[in-house]
Amino acid sequence: MVTEEHLIDAHAHLDELADLTESLQEAKAACVRGIIAVGMDVESNRKILQIAESNPGYVYPALGYHPWEIEDKEVDANLSFIQSHVKEGVALGEIGLDYKIKVKKELQWRVFGELLDMALESDRPVIVHSRFSHRRAFEMVKERKLKRAVFHWYSGPVDLLGKILSMGYFISATPALVYSPPHREAIQRAPIERILLETDTPVSYEGSEARPKDVRVSLEEVAKLKRLEPSLVAMQTTANASEFFQIRFRKNSFH
Ligand SMILES: [Zn+2]
Repeated sequence: MVTEEHLIDAHAHLDELADLTESLQEAKAACVRGIIAVGMDVESNRKILQIAESNPGYVYPALGYHPWEIEDKEVDANLSFIQSHVKEGVALGEIGLDYKIKVKKELQWRVFGELLDMALESDRPVIVHSRFSHRRAFEMVKERKLKRAVFHWYSGPVDLLGKILSMGYFISATPALVYSPPHREAIQRAPIERILLETDTPVSYEGSEARPKDVRVSLEEVAKLKRLEPSLVAMQTTANASEFFQIRFRKNSFH
């Protein structure tokens, strides 16, 4: 089906793609109007800044330090890189907590806390990873009175979702909606005005690696769950992304 729906992929690890050029072309052909490229560590942040520079008005960088990448001896280098480039990004992400990994919680809290402070100082929104740590991640964001936060791929408790939404924060929808009951429940409960669409490229969903064009899967699942027209979901979530990242997305030149 050919549509004129314009979509934003609000979370993709573009630096990890060997087929980046092709993936961006396919995304444009699928009416993806903009992509937020999230960083994991210094090396990935550097790559993302380059990719964004080569694709102006299409790829927007978010600088991050993923909890999976935290290592004692590399913390300072990572934090200072982000500190000195923070204004070059549209957000801080991917950042957060993950209680399923071996990195000590105290260290995760310190790193996440410092990154949240940077977001506050630089007036940037945050893209939050909160696997098995939803409550603490939320408390840390809320404590600092951050205005803009998205809880990425939210699959946490329903009562906490209420608090997240009451703070005006967002959650994001991934292609995991096809099979994940807790993710489906969260998206079903959240108002469409508080949802961003994303792919978490290149994550594998049921054996198939995502690319930004697959944000269409997220779109279709959200539309089905909420019994809304896909065109309406596309329009609203693109407006949400525009508000959240404070970006005016361009129309693709060939549409
Ligand atoms: Zn991610």
